[in-house]
Amino acid sequence: MRGLRRVALQLGVRIHENTAMTGLEEGKPVGIQTPNGTVRADRVVLAMNAWMARAFPQFERSVAIISSDMLITEPRPDLLNEIGLTSGVSVLDSRIFVHYYHNTPDGRIMLGKGGNTFAYGGRMLPVFDQPSPYAGLLQNSLADFFPAFADVKVEATWNGPSDRSVTGLPFFGQMSASGNVFYGFGYSGSGVGPCHMGGQILASMVQGLDNPWTRSPLINGPLGFFPPEPIRYLGSLMVRNAIRRKERAEDHGRRPRHLDVRLAKFAAAAGKADKG
Ligand SMILES: Cc1cc2nc3c(=O)[nH]c(=O)nc-3n(C[C@H](O)[C@H](O)[C@H](O)COP(=O)(O)OP(=O)(O)OC[C@H]3O[C@@H](n4cnc5c(N)ncnc54)[C@H](O)[C@@H]3O)c2cc1C
Repeated sequence: MRGLRRVALQLGVRIHENTAMTGLEEGKPVGIQTPNGTVRADRVVLAMNAWMARAFPQFERSVAIISSDMLITEPRPDLLNEIGLTSGVSVLDSRIFVHYYHNTPDGRIMLGKGGNTFAYGGRMLPVFDQPSPYAGLLQNSLADFFPAFADVKVEATWNGPSDRSVTGLPFFGQMSASGNVFYGFGYSGSGVGPCHMGGQILASMVQGLDNPWTRSPLINGPLGFFPPEPIRYLGSLMVRNAIRRKERAEDHGRRPRHLDVRLAKFAAAAGKADKG
């Protein structure tokens, strides 16, 4: 983030932090309303992640808003040395709701897990700006992965909203009658790497280029829609709990229940069914 900011400023980009878009007037130019004035622009790129779903009702069912939750331990470089976790490499597992972790230069472990709080109707819940309500679950994962850290103090936990798309893939498109408002989101909580690809796609789209980025199958808008509420919310919780039971069984060398395996498949299969 800081590197991108530095390069953008060198290129003459003006950055206005803490300036929320409160409305968008379509047209040529587009008007971006903010609390203190309106910015006019020939072309606009919206890269608002989970916040897209509430701001623009046409996207409400294209993503489910699901938290990713994290903890960070106190510094224990001695223990990291002991277990050989010193490279700073980021690791994630292959679960539907991933675990991820890495060690920091000052000797801490940061560990997180996706797929915890689900927001009814895509609402931005106050909890997304608070410590994680899943601290206990994170601490259990920390102790399972790194028994040496089982009793190490956790200094902070936090969480935030992710934009889980039906397919788990991001999607891009153009959304105004004037052809000048572009968007990209749906990174499904794994966007740090893929949003570089998203940047290439959006930069190419906004310049009207015909290139491999603009010929990507990801540029035709949402690749599927979730069912309306309350089905999305209740269904998501049912599937999440089944995934948790299945993974817990697998973690302990037990055979998961058949019903849980079938329910877990919904998380991956919903998109294909929706697209027919
Ligand atoms: C706790 C947590 C841990 C995560 N860990 C990982 C990880 O380890 N690996 C990984 O790949 N991904 C991870 N993710 C997901 C990753 O952060 C996102 O996929 C990625 O940041 C998406 O990039 P983006 O540019 O689309 O959105 P963001 O980086 O979220 O940027 C969107 C921006 O839009 C702004 N915005 C929204 N609405 C408005 C408005 N009305 N006006 C003005 N600005 C607005 C927001 O404030 C935000 O700054 C994690 C997410 C969370 C919450």
